[in-house]
Amino acid sequence: MTYKQFRLFTCVLMSLFILSGCTDNDYETEPEDTVEEMPQEETQDNDEAEINDGINNETEEEGTHFEEDEDVESDEPVITINMEEDLLDPDSIKVLVNKQYALPEDYSPDDLVTLDLPTVFDDPNLTNMRERAAQALREMFHSAKDEGIVLYARSGYRSYQTQTQLFDRYVDRDGLEAANRYSARPGESEHQTGLAIDVTSESVNYQLTERFGETPEGLWVEEHAHEFGYIIRYPEGKEEITGYQYEPWHLRYLGKELAADVAESGLTYEEYLLERRIDIEIDE
Ligand SMILES: [Zn+2]
Repeated sequence: MTYKQFRLFTCVLMSLFILSGCTDNDYETEPEDTVEEMPQEETQDNDEAEINDGINNETEEEGTHFEEDEDVESDEPVITINMEEDLLDPDSIKVLVNKQYALPEDYSPDDLVTLDLPTVFDDPNLTNMRERAAQALREMFHSAKDEGIVLYARSGYRSYQTQTQLFDRYVDRDGLEAANRYSARPGESEHQTGLAIDVTSESVNYQLTERFGETPEGLWVEEHAHEFGYIIRYPEGKEEITGYQYEPWHLRYLGKELAADVAESGLTYEEYLLERRIDIEIDE
């Protein structure tokens, strides 16, 4: 081997060494980059995904509605909702009551109990609820209290006759159109189901006011009610669908499973049912 050949040979060797070294470096730096950057990116993506999830879920569910029956059955409990058995039966926990779906004049639940909770009034005509709903409310109030949130029950079950007196009084005071926006006509009140409760707090002087929604008590209720089977039945900005102005105090018991599903959807009960392709009427 000449000196020239030796130089060439060494050069080639060096180049190979450098090249392989570079390649190693590449492999070393890439995983490092991945390790350092991925968590940040993941966090950002997850945040966005969570926000998007709420919006996209409906579309995804809608899109795959016909294909995913098997998956749903295997992964998640399916909440069945039938028109006759669930929505139109006054005794059903899922009963739909609004301006389109009224209860019979003579309906009253046969399992009413008196709330054993802080109430605004002592009047037994205002402090009854169906047993399951009362039990769930008790759990909710106790859980709230553990976090320093003191809630009061103001108005639970109301008979058809009580609702008639109430509505007539509001019409006398504010006129029919105004009364209709905040009070139910007889038969159209969820309070007649024994599954609805108006809650309030000392911070709003035990009144039923929109301001309740901004109090620590109202915010707690908004965040946690569904964990106990309740939904905020008349959310803000949904007056055209529910027929009622925003009522952060009016809670409706639907059972834990359904309440959680409705709350997660971010929809009103009417919208949720339509989303589930249950053919309910929503216009007056
Ligand atoms: Zn109410």
